[in-house]
Amino acid sequence: MKQETSASPKFDRPLDAVVVGAGFSGLYALYRLRDRLGLHVRVYEAGGGGGGTWYWNRYPGARCDVPSYSYSYSFSEELDQEWRWSEKCSPQPEIEQYLNHVTDRFDLRRDIRFNTRVMSATYDEASRVWTLGTQDSGTDEHRSVQARFFISAAGLLSRLPGRIGENIAHVPYFLLCNIHGYVILTLANTAITSFSRQITLHKNL
Ligand SMILES: Cc1cc2nc3c(=O)[nH]c(=O)nc-3n(C[C@H](O)[C@H](O)[C@H](O)COP(=O)(O)OP(=O)(O)OC[C@H]3O[C@@H](n4cnc5c(N)ncnc54)[C@H](O)[C@@H]3O)c2cc1C
Repeated sequence: MKQETSASPKFDRPLDAVVVGAGFSGLYALYRLRDRLGLHVRVYEAGGGGGGTWYWNRYPGARCDVPSYSYSYSFSEELDQEWRWSEKCSPQPEIEQYLNHVTDRFDLRRDIRFNTRVMSATYDEASRVWTLGTQDSGTDEHRSVQARFFISAAGLLSRLPGRIGENIAHVPYFLLCNIHGYVILTLANTAITSFSRQITLHKNL
């Protein structure tokens, strides 16, 4: 009998859609595709919990630098009514708590595979099917799954290429900073992008 190795992945039951990432975008994609469109969906998340950026970035003082309410999902009036942000610009633990609340409130967790990284994605033109290769970071198990739709909600910068306080400064208004010699990265990729005023300064990476 052929032995299972990392080169011969196990196959999961085919899905309608695969979503990569369980941050703001991935959680909403799951809700929308599963609960509104009735699709069979699974989210793969490399991290051990949901929240994306707000799961990975826990440095002292981490918080959003836009009004917290702009982080509230608008798809549910009930959710909007029952959640109260405690501060104008909420700290990381509260944003992560909000995302965990949304995850549980809409029973999203059962369709998320945490600690699982999508390693490859191949589209077959003839059959119009995606084949995704995944790796479980705990067991190192490699699996393969097929889906009609593949949605990347992998974010741009959930894990920064450096350390806040050492070679990265997270500042709300770059005009107040001396930017000489720094590479400037804008971080917002949500609604805030339209007036993106938060930046991260990188030096000596
Ligand atoms: C320090 C910091 C502060 C920020 N502050 C603000 C702010 O104040 N206002 C604002 O609007 N935006 C801010 N941002 C931008 C923030 O990233 C977005 O607001 C938003 O949280 C992005 O959500 P997302 O779901 O698109 O992506 P992310 O939150 O980046 O989530 C993507 C997820 O995909 C997962 N993933 C990636 N690749 C794979 C893979 N191959 N397999 C499995 N999983 C994978 C990652 O682990 C991650 O959890 C900030 C970003 C950082 C880094």
